[in-house]
Amino acid sequence: MGKEITKQEFIYTEVSKLFPNAKCELNYYQDYELLIAIMLSAQTTDISVNKVTETLFAKYHSIKDFAQADISDLEQDIKSIGLFRNKSKNLKKMAEIVVEDHNSKIPNTQEELEQLPGVGRKTANVFLAEYYHIPRIAVDTHVSRVSKRLGLVSDNDNPTKIEEKLKKLYDESVWISLHHKFIFFGRYFCKAKKPNCKECPVKKYCKKPCL
Ligand code: SF4
Repeated sequence: MGKEITKQEFIYTEVSKLFPNAKCELNYYQDYELLIAIMLSAQTTDISVNKVTETLFAKYHSIKDFAQADISDLEQDIKSIGLFRNKSKNLKKMAEIVVEDHNSKIPNTQEELEQLPGVGRKTANVFLAEYYHIPRIAVDTHVSRVSKRLGLVSDNDNPTKIEEKLKKLYDESVWISLHHKFIFFGRYFCKAKKPNCKECPVKKYCKKPCL
């Protein structure tokens, strides 16, 4: 008799079928470009960030250029996205620290990353998973909503608790993939305002299906 599939395995398998190629949608080449793109993506879409970084990375060619940038120029360069004043300030300060303390290389540990201005746990997790392929589950608004709707975590769990619970439910080998697939599922299928419940393959486990 075959091994019975668990709820979490079923959810991962079905969401994977919908989004087999889910991946990071931010455009970058260098380590600092990825970190900057992630920092800029707070409370805005990856599409808006990619539009801004296309010209931003063509203007500033290294982390040193960002460290030496004029703050009002930076504000102008990224003003089409939300929270641009705060983001410009953090971006410049982050670049200065990376140049001075890390030999112009973005650090590869959670602790060092989280000490950089504007870099919290989620940003550090996304960076480590994407650039260094270190197993991490970054919990953003999509991962949080999907995990709650599917009853993998509790409604009142904060992002740290959600990360902890998902890490216990899933093997380390799928953490990065799970993160991408849940983001795609939340971004394109189980949307906040208009989820596609009618065609949802994991509806049997959903705590809040529409209809
Ligand atoms: S049934 Fe609807 S709300 Fe529930 S997981 Fe599926 S798409 Fe999302």
